[in-house]
Amino acid sequence: MFDKILIANRGEIALRVVRAAREMGIQSVAVHSTADSDAMHVRMADEAICIGPPSSASSYLSLAAIISACEVTGAQAVHPGYGFLSENAGFVQALEDHGIAFIGPTAEHIRIMGDKITAKDTMKALGVPCVPGSDGGVPTLEDARKIGAEIGYPVIIKATAGGGGRGMKVAQTADDMEAAFQNARSEAKAAFGNDEVYIEKYLTTPRHIEIQVFGDGKGKAVHLAERDCSLQRRHQKVLEEAPGPCITPELRARIGKVCADACAKINYIGAGTIEFLFENDEFYFIEMNTRLQVEHPVTEGIFGVDLVREQINVAAGLPMSFSQDDLEINGHAIEVRINAEKLPNFAPCPGTITQYHAPGGLGVRMDSALYDGYRIPPYYDSLIAKLIVHGRDRPEALARLARALGELIVDGVDTTVPLFHALLQERDVLTGDYNIHWLEHWLEQNLNS
Ligand code: ADP
Repeated sequence: MFDKILIANRGEIALRVVRAAREMGIQSVAVHSTADSDAMHVRMADEAICIGPPSSASSYLSLAAIISACEVTGAQAVHPGYGFLSENAGFVQALEDHGIAFIGPTAEHIRIMGDKITAKDTMKALGVPCVPGSDGGVPTLEDARKIGAEIGYPVIIKATAGGGGRGMKVAQTADDMEAAFQNARSEAKAAFGNDEVYIEKYLTTPRHIEIQVFGDGKGKAVHLAERDCSLQRRHQKVLEEAPGPCITPELRARIGKVCADACAKINYIGAGTIEFLFENDEFYFIEMNTRLQVEHPVTEGIFGVDLVREQINVAAGLPMSFSQDDLEINGHAIEVRINAEKLPNFAPCPGTITQYHAPGGLGVRMDSALYDGYRIPPYYDSLIAKLIVHGRDRPEALARLARALGELIVDGVDTTVPLFHALLQERDVLTGDYNIHWLEHWLEQNLNS
């Protein structure tokens, strides 16, 4: 086992990893930009090292700075969290070249899944059901029109290098194709430096269901059921829950086995998420994330496992602590993402926290790096806290969420907490009757955003 690991991230996820490491008796090293000198992850880790100026490109995304930090502190492994360098195959390769372990999958798997076209081809070959669409990239508008006519409108044009919901445009009819195609390409070019796009059938009322998988890198892999992340704004998740309200044990067993078998076949190592759209009881693969997800705590809630501990174990060559038969769902868990944003437009709202009180009690987990007097810097993501609740069933989890939100105090900046208070009054949310468009419609009607 490692004696010391470095966490190449910030905020709540850096803290999350520090906590797992401490419980395992492993020393942790925090890295930080000059804007984060006072951050909680810096205070909580055993050691901290400044790696550059506020801009992420010169700090949290700097391979050279992070590898130097490993050399200076003697860290034997790096946990990347999510975002930043977590899905950067070049980073994994560079670490390997320096004899430093990466707590995550291999560079090859990251590369395959990071390109959505090769990911889809690979999954198809492994027997995973996919959304009908183009065979690979679509270079010209003419090709796009041909594919649109073939698979039928509406279609969605997506960036091969995509992520975070960017570079995606819907063409409702053939008339929309030209604008959608050009816009998707220029957005992809601006966001990812790669304007390759592909086309999929646009599913009109799907849910977003994702399967948590975990592999030991030696041909053994399991699934840890699904999360329903259908409540989205601009293709970004807002609330997640596990298990999925509309997934039966039969559906779960079927898709879970397909996913676990696929991971076993490629000797996948560590945590991964296979994302699907789900419509009329059918699953359609959209992408695989080769990392820990923001919403992993809901899975931890229903299975009582520590996914970060497992990640560290398999990275050190140890076996997973569970097999498929050990994994039984217990109750229901829900997470809400609390952002420092001003409603109704969700404008980022950095500033100083003048008062902070975290909720507690049975079944309540608060993953946050906030504290009284903390200054939220304007340079990074606006996620400031994840509130996760667990109950014996969905109604109990919902009641607990409402109760916990009521206890939470975050003063000094605007947050998305009022959104969740309002959503918990909605019958569709209470019954779990929503698809990926539900929240956008609701926001239009209720917040005028
Ligand atoms: P990203 O990597 O940018 O997050 P994804 O492929 O995971 O992109 O898609 C993000 C979201 O976009 C999905 O959860 C869904 O809401 C929507 N989406 C993607 N593909 C389709 C599709 N074929 N039909 C309908 N909605 C889609």
